[in-house]
Amino acid sequence: MMGMTENYSRDDAVEKGDLGFAFGSGQSDDISAPAPTHFRGAGSILVDAFGRRISSLRLSVTDRCDLRCFYCMAKTVSFQPRSEVLSLQELCQVAEVFINLGVRNLRLTGGEPLVRRGVLWLVERLGEQIGQGKLDELTLTTNATRLKDEAAALWAAGVRRINVSLDTLDPETFHRITGHGDLHGVLDGIAAAQERGFAIKINTVALKGVNDHEFDALIAWCGRQGADMTLIETMPLGDIATSGRDFYLPLNEARDRIGQRWELLPSEFRTSGPSDYVTVAETGRRLGFITPLSHRFCGACNRVRVTCTGKLYMCLGRDDGVVDLRGPLRAAGDPTVLEDIVRTAIAGKPEGHKFGAGGGRAEGALARRMNVTGG
Ligand code: SAM
Ligand code: SF4
Repeated sequence: MMGMTENYSRDDAVEKGDLGFAFGSGQSDDISAPAPTHFRGAGSILVDAFGRRISSLRLSVTDRCDLRCFYCMAKTVSFQPRSEVLSLQELCQVAEVFINLGVRNLRLTGGEPLVRRGVLWLVERLGEQIGQGKLDELTLTTNATRLKDEAAALWAAGVRRINVSLDTLDPETFHRITGHGDLHGVLDGIAAAQERGFAIKINTVALKGVNDHEFDALIAWCGRQGADMTLIETMPLGDIATSGRDFYLPLNEARDRIGQRWELLPSEFRTSGPSDYVTVAETGRRLGFITPLSHRFCGACNRVRVTCTGKLYMCLGRDDGVVDLRGPLRAAGDPTVLEDIVRTAIAGKPEGHKFGAGGGRAEGALARRMNVTGG
C-alpha cells in the first residue's frame, strides 16, 4: 500500500449532486416527504435461533468515501451503480422496519456516511425516534474529514456518540494509509465534535510496520483528549485481503507491548460487540481490543448489518445467507413487506463467523470490502 498510485479524484469519491436523486424504480430522495409510519411489528422483538436478541443495526448509507484506506478499499475502486443504492427515503424505511421490530441501537456507517448527499435529512428523521420507546441511541462511524462542518447538525439531530477512525497521529503516515488524506482536517473535526459535547471513541486499525510504533502516542493523546480508544485487527475482507494480511498484527502481541508501558486494569465494561476492554490506569480511559477472528463474542452478538444497496448481512464475517431487502421494498412500494422477510432472516442468523475458514480465497477472506458492508 505504501506505493499506492491510484489517481484520486474527489468527484469519484464523494457523491455527486445527482447521486442522491431519482434512483431506480421511481424512487427519489424527495426529502420533503414524510417519514414512513404504520408498522404491524411495533413493540415486537427479534430473537434468532440461538436465543440472541437482535437489538442493534449498522446501516451503511453509501459505499463511497473521500479516503482510500489501503486495508479497506481496493486500489481500483468500483462503486455500486446508483440505481442499486437505496434512496434516503428507502434507507429511512428500512431503518424503521428494524426499529419497529425491536432494534434499539442504530449506527450509520459506510463508506463514509458524511459524503452521502442529504444524509442529514436521514439523521434527523432517525433522530426523531430516539426516546420514543423506539431508538435508545443513534450513532455514527466516520473518518471525521467532514465532522467539523457537520458536528452541530448531528448534535441537533440527537446523535451523542461518534466513533472516529484514526490510525496515526503522523500526517505523513496518515497520508500514506488513506491514499491522500489530510490529518489536520480530521483532528479539527474531532476537536469540533468534542467542543460540541460528543463522546468520541477512536478506532485504530493495528497495522504491522505502519502504526504499531505509535500505539503509546495514540493512547496518551486519547487520554489528553478524553476519548476512549479501540484497537482493531485487520480483517480479511475483499480483494485487498492479501495486502491486508501483510500488515496483520495479532492484538495479543500489541496488548503485551502496551502493558509494558501502561498499567492496564481489568474493566467490567462490556458491549455485545467483539471488543475486550481494559482501563488505562494513567489516563482513566477505556482501551478496547477487537479481535474479530476469534469466536469469543459470537455468542453475545446482537447485531445485523444492512448495506447501502439493501442487503441484509446477518454476520460481518460471512458471505452466505445474505437477504435482499431492496427488491421486495421496491416491488411492493410498502416497507411493511420487509417485516416477515427480516424476521425469517434473523431466525437463520448463523451461530458464528467464517473468518479463517478457507473457502478458496486467502485464508477465509470474504468477497466484499468493508466500505460495502460498513464497519
Ligand atoms: N468511513 C468510516 C470510517 O472509516 O470510520 C466508516 C466506515 S469504515 C468501513 C468502518 C471501520 O471499518 C473503520 O474503523 C475502519 O478502520 C474499519 N475497517 C475497514 N476495513 C477494515 C479491515 N479490512 N479490517 C479491519 N477494520 C477495517
Ligand atoms: Fe473510507 Fe472508512 Fe474505508 Fe477508510 S476505512 S477507506 S475512511 S470507508
